[in-house]
Amino acid sequence: MNKFLCITLTLLCISCAKDTTTHNVAYINGQWFDGETFVDRTLYSSDGYFTDQEPSRIDSTVDLNRKFVIPPFGDAHTHNLEAPEQLNEMESKYIKDGIFYVQVLTNHASKVASFRDEFNKPETIDVMYANGGLTSTLGHPFVAFETSAMGLHWSAMFTQRDRVMQSRLVENDAYWFLDNPEEVQEKWDNIMATNPDLLKIYLIRTSEHDDLINTNNMGNFGLSASTAQAIVTKAKERGLRVVAHVETAEDFRIGLDIGVDGFGHLPGYSWNAEADSEEYRLTDEDLRRAAQANVYVTPTVNFARVYATKYDKNGMSSVDDERLRIVNQFLKSELKRLHEAGITIAMGSDQQGETSLLELNYIHEELQIFDNATLLQMATYTTPQAIFPGRLIGKFENGYEASFLALDSNPLIHWSALKEISMRIKQGNIIEP
Ligand SMILES: [Zn+2]
Repeated sequence: MNKFLCITLTLLCISCAKDTTTHNVAYINGQWFDGETFVDRTLYSSDGYFTDQEPSRIDSTVDLNRKFVIPPFGDAHTHNLEAPEQLNEMESKYIKDGIFYVQVLTNHASKVASFRDEFNKPETIDVMYANGGLTSTLGHPFVAFETSAMGLHWSAMFTQRDRVMQSRLVENDAYWFLDNPEEVQEKWDNIMATNPDLLKIYLIRTSEHDDLINTNNMGNFGLSASTAQAIVTKAKERGLRVVAHVETAEDFRIGLDIGVDGFGHLPGYSWNAEADSEEYRLTDEDLRRAAQANVYVTPTVNFARVYATKYDKNGMSSVDDERLRIVNQFLKSELKRLHEAGITIAMGSDQQGETSLLELNYIHEELQIFDNATLLQMATYTTPQAIFPGRLIGKFENGYEASFLALDSNPLIHWSALKEISMRIKQGNIIEP
């Protein structure tokens, strides 16, 4: 960089730093969500943080015109925001939906490397990337990522089985194969070199792991318990959080044993009402331990519509209403138990191209267990906190980041109000889709 440019940049930085540090905004005539109801308040943003003390100078005043103000939403389980060709579209969708905090639980590290630094700024959404999923050889999510890299549909795992099994196009990028604790040690520095914001491990019928890997069924297993334990131990040394994909209540228990921070699914999210539901039902002791460990659960109950299906004679699937009713009833009772046990429930849909609003609306409309205020609090406080623990977001209190959404009508009365966002403020900046 030449000397002139260097001086110019320094001057620019001084002037912009001066502007932002002294920029005070008054937000008047708003009705602000307090976790239970909406209250009339005037709040100020000073340097991007809320204060209820009027600053000595106000630079601008925003009349919220009796609008209903809520904190922005979070999406704690997605695989969006990794493909460069869909990036702008998905980023706009997140902003449009009012979702400012996103957690990507397995992605190609190489694909996001070139643009991830563009997020996590006051005027952008904030995104955490887990990078490659940690599993054992041929375990989930190998099939999903590898067939896609081969340009094939996932069902190629049946039709072109040998070809898929031998392919390793995105190994050490979208997934890592770790078959024992020694391999965790060997590959750890390479995993860390991708600079993950957190880690995603796969626990799938973990107690049957040794039998399942011998079946040659790609994808229906994950890590062994001892390998998963080695990962969590090393992650903790580094202060990295670990989220576990789980299928059964036993997987959940193993996740608690090894000390994960969160669960990507509620056991039973993939139940199709065929087999017994018992293997998915958490015990009271599991719930007590989970609450004590302060872990969070991203239920992804919207998958009921994917799994509770029937097939016609041409092999086409459709939702089976009776199965869906049974599955929903189970998920409803489990979610209620989680909430009553004091376990943190975070929103995320885990559906490509969709946001956490799909899950939020599914719980609201199909399960109908929580009142609007409780659900809103989960979506706008608990979920952002699960993604960015300890960060001052999700509340309208002194020192919290000045971020909010202004709604035209009251979502405690009309849930559809969540679709009518008329203003989006992130850390004192207006952001638009
Ligand atoms: Zn997922």
